[in-house]
Amino acid sequence: MTTQRDRIDIQLAGDTPATESAARVEAGVVAKGAGEGKMNLFDLDRASLERFFEETLGEKKFRAHQVMKWIHHRYVTDFAEMTDLGKALRAKLEASAEVRVPQVVFDKASTDGTHKWLLGMDPKNAIETVYIPDKGRGTLCVSSQVGCALNCQFCSTATQGFNRNLSTAEIIGQVWVAARHLGNVPHQQRRLTNVVMMGMGEPLANFDNVVRAMSIMRDDLGYGLANKRVTLSTAGMVPMIDRLALESDVSLAVSLHAPNDELRSELVPLNKKYPIEQLMDACVRYALRKRGTSVTFEYTLMKGVNDQPQHARQLLRLMRQFDNAVQMKDAAKVNLIPFNPFPGTRFERPDDAAIRAFQKLLNEAGMIAPVRRTRGDDIDAACGQLKGQVMDRTRRQAEFQKQLQARGLGNEAA
Ligand code: SF4
Repeated sequence: MTTQRDRIDIQLAGDTPATESAARVEAGVVAKGAGEGKMNLFDLDRASLERFFEETLGEKKFRAHQVMKWIHHRYVTDFAEMTDLGKALRAKLEASAEVRVPQVVFDKASTDGTHKWLLGMDPKNAIETVYIPDKGRGTLCVSSQVGCALNCQFCSTATQGFNRNLSTAEIIGQVWVAARHLGNVPHQQRRLTNVVMMGMGEPLANFDNVVRAMSIMRDDLGYGLANKRVTLSTAGMVPMIDRLALESDVSLAVSLHAPNDELRSELVPLNKKYPIEQLMDACVRYALRKRGTSVTFEYTLMKGVNDQPQHARQLLRLMRQFDNAVQMKDAAKVNLIPFNPFPGTRFERPDDAAIRAFQKLLNEAGMIAPVRRTRGDDIDAACGQLKGQVMDRTRRQAEFQKQLQARGLGNEAA
């Protein structure tokens, strides 16, 4: 298990790794120092890289395509190794650009094949990225912010507060590190088949950087993933769901977690701003923009909180309303996620019988609602457990500590 002790021992960018695990940084995967004034090419999707080549370097567009392949298909970050570029162009690139890879502070493998990386984003902050292999697919759970400002009550990330948005480079850098580690070859040997923007942070609160990074994930010169294999998960930022519908074609997942406003406002405070009716309407608009789009609703089951029969019936009603509005049977998909505990949380996972009973109620009404298998909980990589190193600007960490102390749990549970 990742323990508080591990976390304290982690030393971020520039420090000597303090633990064995910190020393297990993959050979070659080290953060390059921020090149002064240099453009980090991880920040650029195809269109902006073409512009950079044409307008800044005075080169042809196709050179940008060659460089994308070197970076995202062959994991080469040193311009000197990009052998199909002329010497003069390599020198120009060296002078004005860089490919700055996030620092792997440590990585851990779970007994079930799940793999977690702690990636240093700057000298004070680090985020987590998780790879989950399954039959015929490999899913990478990617973070969009350092911490999260939304404060969902059952989420480990929320207890860490918030520092800042990640840049496009820092988002796509997570994919690069994992894909390189896995030996992924886009279009040939696909170890990485899906990306879910479900790690630390609310992706729609970092809209532009996330959309640009998702465009690299879906580009043939990037990671070549189909639209439906890239999923953005939101706690329900209604206006931004509409904006996403205009600008991107990825799959949408909504963290619902409660079937009525009273309970949802308690669990997901954003619900006070965008209540369920508004949220569901935005989901309908998202699904209607393209025929056949399904929307996935995530529902974390917490013992005695939202796992009762009346909750299942309310959830069913909501999902049926959604199906009717988009005029498509089974358009709404529900994933049931048994709560994954983390130190200091006041919530508990329901026992297996209660989870099955909740699922049965949905199934008997004709709704398919798979229970997501918990993966990587031995390395704190399960859903809702991600927790990097956040220099909190919201004072939430301090507040969480205060609450724990009031409950007699002290610092141990942080
Ligand atoms: S569940 Fe998602 S949106 Fe809510 S606090 Fe956690 S990371 Fe943020």
